[in-house]
Amino acid sequence: MRIAVAAVQGAFVEHEKMLEAMGIEVIELRKLEDLSQPFDGLVLPGGESTVQGKLFRDLGMFDVLLEKIQDGMPVLATCAGLILLAKEISNDRKRYFGTLPVTVKRNAYGRQLGSFFCEEEIRGIGCYPMEFIRAPYIESVEEGVEILARVDGNITAVQYQNQIAVSFHPELTQDTRIHQKLVEMIENN
Ligand code: GLN
Repeated sequence: MRIAVAAVQGAFVEHEKMLEAMGIEVIELRKLEDLSQPFDGLVLPGGESTVQGKLFRDLGMFDVLLEKIQDGMPVLATCAGLILLAKEISNDRKRYFGTLPVTVKRNAYGRQLGSFFCEEEIRGIGCYPMEFIRAPYIESVEEGVEILARVDGNITAVQYQNQIAVSFHPELTQDTRIHQKLVEMIENN
């Protein structure tokens, strides 16, 4: 099994380290040519969604990634990655892949005081450490989207078909259970 981590900007190294520690082969997607290698799953890391979205377009990677997601490739998206997948962004006019039928709010906890830690239940996983950094949350979901977690009533983790998206940073913890969910999705794909 080989998982590709989008590596144009943001916290991609932490995802790579976690996956490698789980014994998984990882490749980085930095430019268009990297997308011609075979891989079975995709990670869209945290960072700045505006910057990543622009780079994917400028580097010619956007349409190839979109096609893979639309074709059912298992994807794990964290934080900015969630914004890139969202069909709607309530406080931004930009749209990116739009494959996840949810409405997301960027920097939903405020820009300055937006970083915090908590532990909450994730459906099918149990109590999980959640690290939020200028995070978005999901305001609403369309039919078919499974809500996996809420923090203070706001949705912070969802699954929809081949896409798992969380507004926090599992790669900054020692807890591999969300990455394991991606691996299981690939095994069952
Ligand atoms: N605030 C960032 C954005 O809007 C997301 C923050 C993160 O990925 N940690 O893209």
